[in-house]
Amino acid sequence: MSREPILIVGGGLGGLTAALALARRGRPARVLEGATEFGAIGYGIQFGPNVFHVFDRLGLTEQVMAVADSPPAVLMLDALTGKELVRIPTGASFRARFKHPYIIVHRIDVHNVLLDACRQNDAIELIPEAMVTGFEERGDSVAVTTADGRTFSGDALVAADGVRSLFRAKLIGDGEPQPIGYVALRTIVPMAELKADVPRDCVVLWSGPGLHIVHYPLRHGSEFNIVNVFRTAAHAERLDAAAARAELEHAYRNTQPSMRALIGMMDLRWRRSIGDRAPMRHWHQGRIVLLGDAAHAPLQSLAQGAGMAIEDGLCLGEAIHVADGDYQAAFRRFEAARLLRTARVQLESRSLWDFYHLDESLARDVRNASVAEWDEAHLFDCLAWLYDGAPVPGGR
Ligand SMILES: Cc1cc2nc3c(=O)[nH]c(=O)nc-3n(C[C@H](O)[C@H](O)[C@H](O)COP(=O)(O)OP(=O)(O)OC[C@H]3O[C@@H](n4cnc5c(N)ncnc54)[C@H](O)[C@@H]3O)c2cc1C
Repeated sequence: MSREPILIVGGGLGGLTAALALARRGRPARVLEGATEFGAIGYGIQFGPNVFHVFDRLGLTEQVMAVADSPPAVLMLDALTGKELVRIPTGASFRARFKHPYIIVHRIDVHNVLLDACRQNDAIELIPEAMVTGFEERGDSVAVTTADGRTFSGDALVAADGVRSLFRAKLIGDGEPQPIGYVALRTIVPMAELKADVPRDCVVLWSGPGLHIVHYPLRHGSEFNIVNVFRTAAHAERLDAAAARAELEHAYRNTQPSMRALIGMMDLRWRRSIGDRAPMRHWHQGRIVLLGDAAHAPLQSLAQGAGMAIEDGLCLGEAIHVADGDYQAAFRRFEAARLLRTARVQLESRSLWDFYHLDESLARDVRNASVAEWDEAHLFDCLAWLYDGAPVPGGR
């Protein structure tokens, strides 16, 4: 049995899920979060039915559904012509096929569901303002130090510290995530202030040459989440406001009027360069294991980065439980269970990224003609590998 809690560095969706999964099996967890408070960045997030295999096990489905919405469809529209290219129905037939819904939810709300569950569990200790700056393996334990000089030790360590993971930098040393020459902007506006003539109840992806916009409602239709992404040579995370506005308007100059109305609503202060990681075979060393974006950050084109972090959390908790204190065996089992699935998400996200952003060309015409032949049965078959969920050690 553990003598000390397992340290989890990072209280994002992956880290908190891992804490709950460990605690559920009687393993105490101590979560160290660098921010002053446990909390999420305030934007929307989409989840496929696969995450409900985890939420069911953790007893959180009802709480998540209370704060989430299920759209009637996910649409792909042509940014240049406004034509509907793909419609994935996510209503009754989807739910019958995948047994669980597709949801859109405010990230803060789903984060709070996990946080509340952690707070109610005596086996989980949440420590904010604990920015980990160093670590040391000591044979049968791991010790970390924080920016303010505190030391914590644990039986093993789960690095759930995101795409710019300190632990990945030290253990793998493969540098920063690879920028791909695109930036993202995100905004939430009250639904009552939405001026653009766009579908308000669905998830919509407008696909154009070197750009896209994704939007969907949040909080039972009271808010509207907009993400826009475009190719730029100036992918600095900060740019002066006038230059950023001019660049945005230039990028979207040939798109539909409703898209131009949406970009007029964007908050230019949150601007992020987009990058991902290449798939990698091993995520652990000694008593330290990487999880979520620290291990396998994808582009957001499949909207599955957080979904994979949540699946990882449950899988790792079960792997540690099944291995009963043998961390090497547990981490090997965890990697084996998660490698191909997360690598596929990374690779398919890259393919889909190119597919969304095709320049005006014959290739784009071929894409549009091909997707016109996709019916519901075909779309559901294509998504089954992902949405049917993933096995975990010790049984589903
Ligand atoms: C524009 C955009 C849209 C997206 N949309 C979706 C979507 O719809 N669906 C989806 O599934 N995914 C989506 N993603 C991906 C998703 O946001 C990430 O994959 C997910 O947040 C990864 O979770 P995580 O727990 O691994 O890491 P994170 O959420 O990054 O959490 C890491 C945590 O670790 C903390 N931390 C970092 N370093 C330290 C340290 N040294 N010491 C202590 N704490 C530390 C951070 O403060 C943070 O709280 C999107 C991403 C982007 C950029």
